[in-house]
Amino acid sequence: MSKFLTLPDQKLTTMPGGVPFIIGNEAAERFSFYGMKTILVVEDDPAILRGLQELLTAEHFHVLTASTGTQGLMLGKKENLDLIILDLGLPDVNGEDVCKQLREAGVPTPLLMLTSKSQEMDKVLGLEMGADDYMTKPFSVRELLARIHAILR
Ligand code: CA
Repeated sequence: MSKFLTLPDQKLTTMPGGVPFIIGNEAAERFSFYGMKTILVVEDDPAILRGLQELLTAEHFHVLTASTGTQGLMLGKKENLDLIILDLGLPDVNGEDVCKQLREAGVPTPLLMLTSKSQEMDKVLGLEMGADDYMTKPFSVRELLARIHAILR
């Protein structure tokens, strides 16, 4: 998914207008050239994942997706992200452990946890697993966007 935009594999290149910028190898760094924030969405429900991808893309975010905790961990550690939206209930590694493992690996990316039940909110907060915010599903799109913008501000 990160391969559709290709730029020359060089460290220093020039923006239109002659402003030099440093370019790395990761897709997220390429997109940051365009001023886009990169959001990783980790969600195993295909309908929610697709909905979030469409919503965030329409809001001019660069969106990476993962449908398992393992993929989420891999991308969360590898890519230069501005935000991770993480479902708590994942089929392999649950969101709580993904969050803990990212934090233990020193990944400082802001993290918004999605929970399916209201009582899980207490769990998210009580365990202090390292999430910056949470939302309970079903969530309102407007509130989600407001929280995303607040985290990214
Ligand atoms: Ca789920």
